Amino acid sequence: MVIGGGITGSGIARDAAARGLKTLLVEKDDFAFGTSSRSSKLVHGGLRYLSYGNFKIVFESCAERYHLMTTVAPHIVRPLHFIVPTFKKNRQPRWLIAAGLVLYGLLSMFRNFRHFKIVSRAQMASLVPGIRTEDSTGGLSYYDCAVLDFRLVIDTLKSAFEQGAVLLNYCKVVGVSLSEGSDLNVVELEDKFRDGSEVLRVRGGVVINATGVWADDLLRSAGSGDRFNLKNSCGTHIFFDVAGAGIKDAIAFESCIDKRNMFVVPWQGRILLGTTDKFCSDNPDNLPIDPASVDYLMDSFNKVFPEFNLTREKIISAYSGVRPLIGAGNGESVSRLSRDYKIKVDPRGMVSITGGKLTTYRLMAKKLVDRVVKEFFKERHLAPCTTTLPISGGDVTEIKGLQAKITNDDFRHLIENYGSNSRVILDYIEKDPRCGKRISPQYSLLWAEIDYFIDYEFAQQLSDIFIRRTTTFIFAKDNGISICDEVARHMGKQLGWSEEYVLSQIAGYKEIVRRMCVSI
Ligand code: FAD
Repeated sequence: MVIGGGITGSGIARDAAARGLKTLLVEKDDFAFGTSSRSSKLVHGGLRYLSYGNFKIVFESCAERYHLMTTVAPHIVRPLHFIVPTFKKNRQPRWLIAAGLVLYGLLSMFRNFRHFKIVSRAQMASLVPGIRTEDSTGGLSYYDCAVLDFRLVIDTLKSAFEQGAVLLNYCKVVGVSLSEGSDLNVVELEDKFRDGSEVLRVRGGVVINATGVWADDLLRSAGSGDRFNLKNSCGTHIFFDVAGAGIKDAIAFESCIDKRNMFVVPWQGRILLGTTDKFCSDNPDNLPIDPASVDYLMDSFNKVFPEFNLTREKIISAYSGVRPLIGAGNGESVSRLSRDYKIKVDPRGMVSITGGKLTTYRLMAKKLVDRVVKEFFKERHLAPCTTTLPISGGDVTEIKGLQAKITNDDFRHLIENYGSNSRVILDYIEKDPRCGKRISPQYSLLWAEIDYFIDYEFAQQLSDIFIRRTTTFIFAKDNGISICDEVARHMGKQLGWSEEYVLSQIAGYKEIVRRMCVSI
């Protein structure tokens, strides 16, 4: 019984089910509701961790980046060219970053997309038009990868489902009773959409706590005294309109304000700017956007790109994610604290995992399932771990065939978003050509995609589709407000909603947009 439908729980459910374990995964909100839809969307080795001596994390992350990019999720994990401009007053001069990149290459065993390069002052000015030039010392360039984090969760979950796992979103675990010496542990669930206060009781063998920042809460409710003692750190990101900026590559730069590492990443005509990293005690279920963090991001950016003049009007969306920090409290700055993960075993039958990175989720899942098998299923003859194989949508041969087949420009984005699963959407369109139409001329989203999210991707709410299946919330200038009425009505027809429920969905989504964007 896996609790938590973020990337960690999804990876575990996929691995466990593929090895032959009967697997249930429950998530209190929508899948990827937590940190796994609010990350910096990078699949990276973690160049910055080298300066803190975290070589093990970098080594593991580089190996996982390679697996994700080449076999596990090649349809959504794309190589990303990073340029690192350096300036006279940088904390880290160019030679030091170059030395770091040599080590980065070694730790990745030269399995990166391409080698790093030194960039001269003149090259920098032409590679990144609009960048500050007066105190430039040139820079460097190297490769990491980018991924839409929520799509990685959904495709991993679909693989778990294909392997026989049962997946429930909007089901909160409200109680865990572990029985000493017995394999009949009980998890109590509350279904968010079920009337009344009925609690469902599920009996099973081993309980996996993969609840990220909520991990200590679950340990507490299971009566476990051995907790992670997590502290949370919050990272805010903004997406803004690319118009006027000559940014074609990702750029990693040092903030002139406090010398922290920051980045911008171009995404389909938008630019992601991040991130902050501050201890926070806000409720992770309802994270506000801190206006001071938005100011900090804009000021740091404007000092490196003075001509662009990023203002609040150019911002399209903002989001904050919370990181569970293990070992906080001994005076270390947040950025220096390790991004490693930790596994705790309660011999009564609960295994907890927290920390880590999106990038290392497959390895974390493997290590956890290995441990579960060793501690609790020694006598079972289970299949070996097979998670370096493609997740759902990652069949490269099928993708090539589909690419050759797609002639309509309106359908090209399907491959980029759903890989080989585009076939399912094309089947809808073949059966009913009306659902091959765009929802609105300003959106590439097709009606067939909405049906697909409902039938194959567990979408139950309007916000699931706009925030955690597509980029509507983060990329669209109006965050999807102009199409939310029509999409909610379409969902209502498919899911049998009453008019009142349709209206509550529209109002609910507008409220989310208002809350997320008002403080920007
Ligand atoms: P979560 O995604 O938070 O999932 C836990 C889930 O458990 C939640 O969905 C929650 O709703 C559910 N849950 C909690 N309690 C219950 C309950 N009682 N019942 C049922 N369900 C419950 N990593 C990278 O590799 N690359 C990056 O670029 C990157 N950027 C980051 C930027 C920021 C600002 C932050 C904060 C992190 C970043 N990370 C990055 C790290 C990465 O995002 C996280 O390690 C990862 O998303 C954590 O996933 P998770 O599944 O452990 O937690």
